[in-house]
Amino acid sequence: MSDIETKEIKLTGVSGSPGICIGKAYLVDKEGVKVIEKYFISKKELSSEIKRFKSAAKKAKDELRKIIEDSSDKLGDHINILKTHLVLHEDKMLYGKAIDTIKKDHVNAEWALKKVVSEAKVMFQSISDPYIKGRATDIEHVYDRIMKSLIGRKEEDIGNIDKRVILVAHNLSPADTSQIQLERIMGFVTDRGGKTSHTAIIARTLDIPSVLGLDNATGIIKTDDIIIVDGIEGVIIIHPEDETILHYEDLKARYEEHQAVITRESHAPAETKDGIRLNIMGNIELPEEIVSVRDYGGDGIGLYRTEFLYLSRSNFPREDELFEQYKEVVELMSPSPVTIRTLDINGDKEVAYASENDEANPALGLRAIRFCLKRQEVFKTQLRAILRASAFGNVRIMFPMISGVEEVLEAKKILSDVSQALDKEGILYKKDIEIGIMIEVPSAVVMADALADVSDFFSIGTNDLVQYLLAIDRGNKQVAYLYHPLHPAVIRMIKFLVDVAKSKGIKVFMCGEMAGDPYNMPLLLGLGLDELSMNPQSIPAVKKIVKSIKVKESIKFVDEVIAESSTTKIHEMMQNKYGELFSKIKSGI
Ligand code: PEP
Ligand code: MG
Repeated sequence: MSDIETKEIKLTGVSGSPGICIGKAYLVDKEGVKVIEKYFISKKELSSEIKRFKSAAKKAKDELRKIIEDSSDKLGDHINILKTHLVLHEDKMLYGKAIDTIKKDHVNAEWALKKVVSEAKVMFQSISDPYIKGRATDIEHVYDRIMKSLIGRKEEDIGNIDKRVILVAHNLSPADTSQIQLERIMGFVTDRGGKTSHTAIIARTLDIPSVLGLDNATGIIKTDDIIIVDGIEGVIIIHPEDETILHYEDLKARYEEHQAVITRESHAPAETKDGIRLNIMGNIELPEEIVSVRDYGGDGIGLYRTEFLYLSRSNFPREDELFEQYKEVVELMSPSPVTIRTLDINGDKEVAYASENDEANPALGLRAIRFCLKRQEVFKTQLRAILRASAFGNVRIMFPMISGVEEVLEAKKILSDVSQALDKEGILYKKDIEIGIMIEVPSAVVMADALADVSDFFSIGTNDLVQYLLAIDRGNKQVAYLYHPLHPAVIRMIKFLVDVAKSKGIKVFMCGEMAGDPYNMPLLLGLGLDELSMNPQSIPAVKKIVKSIKVKESIKFVDEVIAESSTTKIHEMMQNKYGELFSKIKSGI
């Protein structure tokens, strides 16, 4: 290998999740893992599309047969697994059905294969026999092999990941990220993704260092290259020199020690220097994350993103399945509040079985509450499950993506119908449940006075509010430089909202990523937010900084900031006034 190939290279992206790791890279895929596009195939092109599928399937089968022949003595018991895969390659259920789907749905071969395989997997997984259940994994392998042959990519044996590696991928969808096997992955880096993309949000929940938005990491890094992921600064270092490794090992040790200290302190309530207590809550996607919220000292759940149970499957979950999940969360957190946000699918969390049409602008499309008001049977199933779970603890309900009063009234009417049905059936639920709305669409801020009359609380979703206010796709790296929660328009908007809400006597919470960044605390406290919710990992640092601030001073600071019109100037003001505090809190580094 030449010197140039092993020269230390530093790449800068955005921090997906803090922390540092040093290890070997594992390049998953240059084209994107399982990011399969769906497109229409005209009648004329159908037979060539079927031919394309058949030859890809044959190629995949031949490759597998060759592996079996060549390695039968080396593979031991593993050979039987591969033989099972070979049988599956010939199975009518996969092969025949994929062809039928291309014909019937007029879709591309990749999409047809993906659809058939996810249906088959769900079927296998629903069978209680663990052996049969395990066959779902075999189907996955067969799927991967044919898919790679369809897309024309070189074979990568994922099964070879038998040691802890750093995953390097072009892109990971929220569903992919949520399936990462933590015992095998110590960090990950991607070419795509922005700070508030859902991929980044899940990365933070996973609690493994990650750097996203690196543009071309997959073009530079090779499997087995040594890399350093610095999720604190959002940089990676490829082929680090010995000195660099030593430096980062030291940083890592100090960061982890600092985290351990602030996490211990985080179990005490967050009270400002002038005695104001602020609830610091956790955001979760799945019940398993409750442990993190508790470990990191969260005072409750400020945002339960319920859509994750709807991803990675092929049909809507049943009421009982939802109820069991919600009940577990609510019981474990009781008596602390659990704010269950109703389904926010589509947008960048596309659920294939729920999207009727391809949308040119999914973020502005049939997403969240709009979807629920259209597919009321899906909405009612979820509301019934939430209400039933409310009998077991302290539940709040929250509707996402509200743009005006009618949507709230319609959603509340459906909720009231569902409550009446439960009454008739004699099923218990919490009668005085608080019903809030997310403030994510600028029109909701303009209509805050009217919305306050029909809501018990507001929760600002800054990820979307910033996206829609500044017209910047939150997942688009190209415009990430414009995505600023500290843009004066954002700050003025929050101030306006809080003032209106206070005059109406309702509380304002924040659960977007802005709430989890310790640097924003002086401003957020001065703006008068009543509660903050964030990824669990951020809770200790946020609590720590809250305890070092005087709200009175923050209020004065906000008055000065509101008069400013430049984002850069606002950053400078923050740095001048609170810079010293920030550097102390940052990481102990
Ligand atoms: C938000 O938009 O800020 C929010 C919390 O919701 P999500 O990130 O799930 O869109
Ligand atoms: Mg949102």
